[in-house]
Amino acid sequence: MHSFKVNTSQHSELIDITDQIQTVVTNNKLNDGLCFVFVPHTTAGITINENADPSVRKDIIKELNALVPWEHNYTHGEGNSAAHIKASLTGFSLTVCIEQGRLQLGTWQGIYFAEFDGPRSRSVWVKII
Ligand code: ZN
Repeated sequence: MHSFKVNTSQHSELIDITDQIQTVVTNNKLNDGLCFVFVPHTTAGITINENADPSVRKDIIKELNALVPWEHNYTHGEGNSAAHIKASLTGFSLTVCIEQGRLQLGTWQGIYFAEFDGPRSRSVWVKII
């Protein structure tokens, strides 16, 4: 298994990690297979969405914040229940096909690390199958 670090700089943000994952795939030299990506955290997740217009990322964060407010009489004592809930909404893993050594993403797709309780130093795990 491979891993790399993501240093987030904001409380909530989507960070494009497509290039880092493609680098793992390229270094692995597997032409055809699957790339499994896993985020080993409980207040950060991973998702695929548009990589052309950055306003899409802003809107996703804005609407997740509206959907899951930071203060809402949660019971979790650490005070970051909203981050846990948003991480579960995005999920903690995804799988992308590899063809001819390249991640097979749609024209407008990028892979995003989803930070919901930053800034922190985070990890991403990648398994090439
Ligand atoms: Zn917590």
